[in-house]
Amino acid sequence: MNPPPSPLSSWARNITPSPTLAVDAKAKALKAAGEDVCVFGAGEPDFDTPDFIKEACVAALRAGKTKYAPTPGIDELRLAIAERYGADYGLKVSPGQVVVSPGGKFSCYLAVLATCSPGDEAIVAAPYWVSYPEMVKLAGAVPKAVLADDATGFKLTPDQLEAAITPRTRLVILNSPSNPTGAVYSGAELEAVVAVALKHNLYILSDEIYEYLIYDGVQHRCVATFSPEAEARTIVVSGFSKPYSMTGWRLGTLVAPPPIARACAELQSQMTSNATTFAQYGALAALREKEKARESLARMMTAFDRRRKFLHAGLNRIPGVSCLLAQGAFYLFPNISKFGISSQDFCARLLEKEKVAAVPGSAFGAEGFLRLSYATSDETIAKGLDRLAHFCKAL
Ligand SMILES: *Cc1c(COP(=O)(O)O)cnc(C)c1O
Repeated sequence: MNPPPSPLSSWARNITPSPTLAVDAKAKALKAAGEDVCVFGAGEPDFDTPDFIKEACVAALRAGKTKYAPTPGIDELRLAIAERYGADYGLKVSPGQVVVSPGGKFSCYLAVLATCSPGDEAIVAAPYWVSYPEMVKLAGAVPKAVLADDATGFKLTPDQLEAAITPRTRLVILNSPSNPTGAVYSGAELEAVVAVALKHNLYILSDEIYEYLIYDGVQHRCVATFSPEAEARTIVVSGFSKPYSMTGWRLGTLVAPPPIARACAELQSQMTSNATTFAQYGALAALREKEKARESLARMMTAFDRRRKFLHAGLNRIPGVSCLLAQGAFYLFPNISKFGISSQDFCARLLEKEKVAAVPGSAFGAEGFLRLSYATSDETIAKGLDRLAHFCKAL
């Protein structure tokens, strides 16, 4: 008799669970067991959602906004998102080009599903956000990572992209400001990379979820603004999780040319339906009450900027560690290759010996690095730096 078929699908067997969420879960479990853990694993702001946003959501609940909404989002929110792209970047976006989804992560997945068929290739700039290659695999397509390490400031060059393109390439996934490195492309750097993608008629998924989280007066450029061709080929993803500390609300956005936006909405209609209706009213307040939103963002960014400089200086004082000063998001990505052990090993031993939680660079396609999130208290950063220095000295 033949053996019974494998009980789980190839999709289930081939998925790599999120290593960042796994580190976070392990650190939280240690903490719950009473251990004094310094957690640098968090992929979310350590601030609460601003009150004015919560109030708007509560009011919506009280007003009975508890039913299904249109799949791509409530009309007012799609309009407000379209308008904010005009105000922020001078883009002319119609509400029909906007899809509100249950999280920026899901927006990215929709963009991949709308553009990639089985067998297609998607180029992923590494160090990459952990979910991109897995999403490409779930679409039956093939992720091709191209590594840009600290020698180029973690930024993909046009030549690197050109060399990775094959006749099967369909999509390029870009993420500036970047998770995990915090790198921000200059307008010229980004335009040069986008020009190569356009020359080969590729789609571009531009994940701009950290667009407001930038330092040193650096300007974020929205990829869709580069040219009419860029606008016609780009899906711009963003969301509410990072700028408004709304990770648990699960609200993401995408803006795309009308046929792609329509395809994303149709995919979403069969996969999840609308993002939570009353949560969308909270997001609407975030966009409408601009002054309050600006104030809470500024407060958060002041804290992040202080911690960024503090962590960066502390890392570079540790013999064997070198770290670029990132200009976006809330991560630093120090180079630990001088210690001659894998980043996985480094992180496992660091957690075991010193109770410091960090995510290995290998999770992001970059061996020899760590991702440290500074979305944590100044005290945790100070204590964590001491422990890391002690750990490195003993290696
Ligand atoms: C956090 C994050 C997202 C989206 O997060 P959601 O909570 O799903 O909105 C998307 N891309 C990157 C790179 C992120 O770090």
